Amino acid sequence: MSQLTTECRDERRAEIAANLERVEARIADACAQAGRDRATVTLIVVTKTYPADDVRLLAELGVRNVAENRDQEAAQKAAECSDLALRWHFVGQLQTNKVRSVADYADVIHSVDRPKLVSALSSAAQRQGRELDCLLQVALDKESGEGGGRGGLTGAEVLELVPQMREAPQLRLAGLMMVAPLTGPYTGDPRAAFDRLMDISQSLRTVEPAANMVSAGMSSDLEYAVAAGATHVRVGSAVLGVRPQLR
Ligand SMILES: *Cc1c(COP(=O)(O)O)cnc(C)c1O
Repeated sequence: MSQLTTECRDERRAEIAANLERVEARIADACAQAGRDRATVTLIVVTKTYPADDVRLLAELGVRNVAENRDQEAAQKAAECSDLALRWHFVGQLQTNKVRSVADYADVIHSVDRPKLVSALSSAAQRQGRELDCLLQVALDKESGEGGGRGGLTGAEVLELVPQMREAPQLRLAGLMMVAPLTGPYTGDPRAAFDRLMDISQSLRTVEPAANMVSAGMSSDLEYAVAAGATHVRVGSAVLGVRPQLR
């Protein structure tokens, strides 16, 4: 490695380390406020749009969980970082024609939201001989008839998918995922949205006690998610910097 590259790398490492420290402090404070043990919340760093080199730096700095939202980008990064023993989370909308690729590197799928996707994931996982942890993605705006056709399930639809998940070989129903809604009655009130998510999680756990993972909270609202009871927060820009453009 040239002198210049080494300097750039050291600078980037220091930047990410400082950001990670700030995010860690935010999570610790939120846990303290909520009377929760810090160990009950897992940080997942969302690495989309950032290079594999950053993933490597994150691993050096102790991050074990990373997330991506696009298969093509994720597949390449996961391959470049296959020596790092990271846990890869797929958090983007998932088309069935991408499932075979995603099942190859992802350990956790956060965006399961329809029966067809469950069967496709199960077939792919069986073919690859891997077990996949699956989160059902909740969309609260769908409960009020909004949501503009994007993915996600209402609370009732979550419970309807449980029997199929139970029967699906190589899939484990691990819990729920949500992004705070941008339309509908919960807009601008992340705390209420995350409380509603916890209600849905409670009813899910009544029928499936092991499905206790709750993936909620991002750079802007992780405190609300931790206060409500999230077990996993997905943080991108607060760790790696603001992404060049929305995607
Ligand atoms: C990009 C993304 C995040 C991280 O968002 P930040 O605001 O950068 O923290 C979390 N969850 C999902 C589903 C994402 O696509």
